[in-house]
Amino acid sequence: MTTVDVKAGRMAGERILVVDDNLLNLKLATVLLVRAGYRVDGAASANEAIAQLEREPPQLIILDLRLPEIGGLELARTWKQDPRFCGIPIIAMTASGLRADEEDARLAGCEHYMAKPFVLAELLEQVARCLNGTCDVCARARTRRATTTA
Ligand SMILES: [Zn+2]
Repeated sequence: MTTVDVKAGRMAGERILVVDDNLLNLKLATVLLVRAGYRVDGAASANEAIAQLEREPPQLIILDLRLPEIGGLELARTWKQDPRFCGIPIIAMTASGLRADEEDARLAGCEHYMAKPFVLAELLEQVARCLNGTCDVCARARTRRATTTA
């Protein structure tokens, strides 16, 4: 825990919420992102994720679509309809490489989709782009929200 705190303090990284019911995946993603300088909150269930989001909204969400009980797609849809959370980019992940999943993720409002197993370097690159403002997809989503709420 201390290493996480030291690193977070030193780098003052953006906060990322990782939602995955597979604890090994959750741990791997957390280690990777913390090492890259981000502050990471982990949630192993939809309810934990909801609580975490209410407590302290992150700058980005990495969401496993295959969650028990409330699924990831439903979570994404709910958050994207909530003015408090709709501006947080979501990178959706699922184990299956099904085309339909990608389409579902997009329809639910997820900015990005990655099929597992994915290349960690690609995930890090995507996260960095979404957070530093150079991601086209997130930029378009921001513009769309600005015009629909105006
Ligand atoms: Zn993005």
